[in-house]
Amino acid sequence: MPEWLNALPKAELHLHLEGSLEPELLFALAERNQIALPWADVETLRAAYAFNNLQEFLDLYYAGANVLRTEQDFYDLTWAYLQRCKAQNVIHVEPFFDPQTHTDRGIPFEVVLRGIQQALLDGEKQLGISHGLILSFLRHLPEEEAFKTLEQAMPFRDAFIGVGLDSSEKGFPPRLFERVFAKARSEGLHAVAHAGEEGPPEYIWEALGLLKIKRIDHGVRAIEDERLMQRIIDEQIPLTVCPLSNIKLCVFEHMGQHNILEMLERGVKVTVNSDDPAYFGGYVGENFAALHEHLGMTEAQAKRLAQNSLDARLA
Ligand SMILES: [Zn+2]
Repeated sequence: MPEWLNALPKAELHLHLEGSLEPELLFALAERNQIALPWADVETLRAAYAFNNLQEFLDLYYAGANVLRTEQDFYDLTWAYLQRCKAQNVIHVEPFFDPQTHTDRGIPFEVVLRGIQQALLDGEKQLGISHGLILSFLRHLPEEEAFKTLEQAMPFRDAFIGVGLDSSEKGFPPRLFERVFAKARSEGLHAVAHAGEEGPPEYIWEALGLLKIKRIDHGVRAIEDERLMQRIIDEQIPLTVCPLSNIKLCVFEHMGQHNILEMLERGVKVTVNSDDPAYFGGYVGENFAALHEHLGMTEAQAKRLAQNSLDARLA
């Protein structure tokens, strides 16, 4: 990565902590917790990181998350991510975590939260990285389950800045979560949601209109709907775009086809993020580098993208 790219101060606004679990740490945690893995070694696991769509990735992602058991595991996961941030001049993070991925396999909510929270606090003190944590609901599970998760989270209300919506998009439109998002907002939490990654522009309209989101996660399919484009430009609603993820999950065939710079030039408040960096081939820095290499992103464009990420912070 060019040094000028690395040196730009940036924020990361679309990152799933569970998706930053590198194979080496995954194997180390499996050993610490005495969990048998379906992969022989780190290389076999890395070789499995070839996906045809979002669902194929999710299947592997949930299998990987199974090694996370103790507060220390969640601490180590988060701390490893923050160190990558430090190396790439990411000065602020607003990561997601998926409580249901853990509570559904018997890990108490507070074990997950305390590990993550302690690492974020240490990151602030020792690495100078500020943060705002976002609790994300799994949309392939019923809204009722999301309500239960929100209830579990409420004793720790001050640990979060907002709620999000992730996992399988197609067939699980935002409208299914209208009530739980209303409840979260009534608690003073910000709302964001994944929309318009694999799903159609209608999902973005729903997320804006019904969930009243402040930021659109992905949103690259907004470009198919001119009226929607006008709205997100007029209202400067930020999009947290994840270029390497989009290529790995076949949202675009090649990086050369990615629309992020086209959106930027049209005045959309787009930002660059890594989504699930351990699975998609890189962190924020590598995502910027890919835009430079394949789309000819200029230094001026990189600066605007980095500034957008700082402007689009919720915390
Ligand atoms: Zn995501």
